[in-house]
Amino acid sequence: MGIYTSDSFADHEQVVIVRDVPSGLRAIIAIHSTALGPALGGCRMWPYLSEQAAVEDVLRLSKGMSYKNALARIPFGGGKSVIIGDSRVDKSDDLLRAFAKQLNYLGGRYITAEDMGISEQDADLMASISPYVAGLSDIKKGGSGNPSPKTALGTYLGLKKAVAVRLNTESLRNLSIAVQGLGAVGTELCRLLLADGAIVHATDIDTKRVEAAVSTLGVIGVAPNEIYSTPAIVFAPCAMGGVINDETLSELKVKVVAGAANNQLLAPAHGQGLFDRQILYAPDYVINAGGVINIAGEILKEKADYAIKKIEQIPATLGEIFAESQRRGVATHRVADDMAERMIAAQRVSKAA
Ligand code: NAD
Repeated sequence: MGIYTSDSFADHEQVVIVRDVPSGLRAIIAIHSTALGPALGGCRMWPYLSEQAAVEDVLRLSKGMSYKNALARIPFGGGKSVIIGDSRVDKSDDLLRAFAKQLNYLGGRYITAEDMGISEQDADLMASISPYVAGLSDIKKGGSGNPSPKTALGTYLGLKKAVAVRLNTESLRNLSIAVQGLGAVGTELCRLLLADGAIVHATDIDTKRVEAAVSTLGVIGVAPNEIYSTPAIVFAPCAMGGVINDETLSELKVKVVAGAANNQLLAPAHGQGLFDRQILYAPDYVINAGGVINIAGEILKEKADYAIKKIEQIPATLGEIFAESQRRGVATHRVADDMAERMIAAQRVSKAA
């Protein structure tokens, strides 16, 4: 399939192919929609196996950002950029500066931030060239710093909402929750859940992280391959994508799936699989929006409580999704997409009028 015939291409407002010979920069900037505001989404540096793979990834991710930002109720559209290369060997200051220059040519239609392969420090460097860079490290200079605690907070509040809807209880006390991944978000989520009286079973492929969480937090350690079958009420994926698949669907005994990981469903059919098994799924991009909300606060130069107030709306948005899902008999991941599309389309119509 060629670039122009990619299914996702037609949806986009603008796709920019970037090449800077001296620095070796090869990048693609995709602006899916600016209906709700400037397109906001991180820059990923990844050694894609082909240019086509890079195009497919950036188009998919930028559309996802439109949906995520819409349902986070922040005044931003969706965009994303990818730099083709291995960040460990191909990344240089010149390459980052060349990329930042391209942002200036777009005049603010797209605002970037960190993502895989691009750190907060890289964002700081790009910000010395372009004002269209966010997610900066220094809070004293207006940066929003590490987004992970905010992502964990939104995930915790969203998880509580899903439990309230599925089990009709406001309390997590003595409920078993299985957390996959003890990184920046998973560890903070465990802390919040334990403070609420939950019994937390947690795993990581890094056994040191599990040992630390057992001894310092008080989680119950579980082997990575046992987390899906752990007897729990909630499964909280906080590691990698694609963890809801044919294999795990048959293992999961939980009533709720609510976690921070991106792209939890291997394919849309697996969202339907959860729905058919009456496992309430909190769509990943809705529940994990705390990080992008934090960045929105930075761009808008809002006070520190802006992000917290917006994150506190995540449960209400999930509540709308769960209610519509029940009313229409449609799986929650599809309802979330429909809702985001309606919000974007409504803004397009009102702008055109
Ligand atoms: P992280 O890299 O700090 O932690 C991920 C952890 O998962 C690591 O400890 C890793 O060892 C573990 N892991 C990897 N594969 C595993 C497996 N098979 N089984 C068990 N553990 C495994 O990442 P993070 O910042 O905590 O993010 C976690 C997830 O949330 C990612 O999917 C990320 O894309 C998503 N997310 C993060 C943020 C944020 O603000 N950090 C925002 C939105 C979404």
